[in-house]
Amino acid sequence: MIEQTLVIIKPDGLTRSLAGRIIQRFEDKQLQISQIKKEELSQAQLREHYHHLIEQPFFPKLMSYMMEGPVLLMVIEGENAITRTRKIVGVTDPMEAEMGSLRGDFGVDKTRNLIHASDSVDTAHEEIVRFFGE
Ligand code: UDP
Repeated sequence: MIEQTLVIIKPDGLTRSLAGRIIQRFEDKQLQISQIKKEELSQAQLREHYHHLIEQPFFPKLMSYMMEGPVLLMVIEGENAITRTRKIVGVTDPMEAEMGSLRGDFGVDKTRNLIHASDSVDTAHEEIVRFFGE
């Protein structure tokens, strides 16, 4: 099934000049960029995006990380794009993410893990609408 998913290259992905290499990994696996924009996310946008984590002790650290600078927002499209994108990205903690995954290769720690990718059909739709509109 052709799906769309939302990917965010977090601020350090841009300051470390990793965007090209990150995008290449998706393209290598026949996933295409259907929309892309660079933007600084506001506190309000981030609180909405990470609403399920507001009570977590790491939430303030996550917010300041995500506000270090602009991010690259992308809609990625292709066959089973949601699951395949998560696989390319790797699990949350870069220490546990497989080598060869983006977080495994480039992630720093559990907060500074470089990339966001939607985790289900419902969240993908919600997140694409949130950042790109209908
Ligand atoms: N995060 C963190 N500490 C944790 C777990 C998560 O700082 O113990 C951050 C990390 O940047 C992660 C984001 O919060 O990507 C969202 O967490 P979630 O559990 O949704 O993980 P993801 O879907 O991004 O792998």
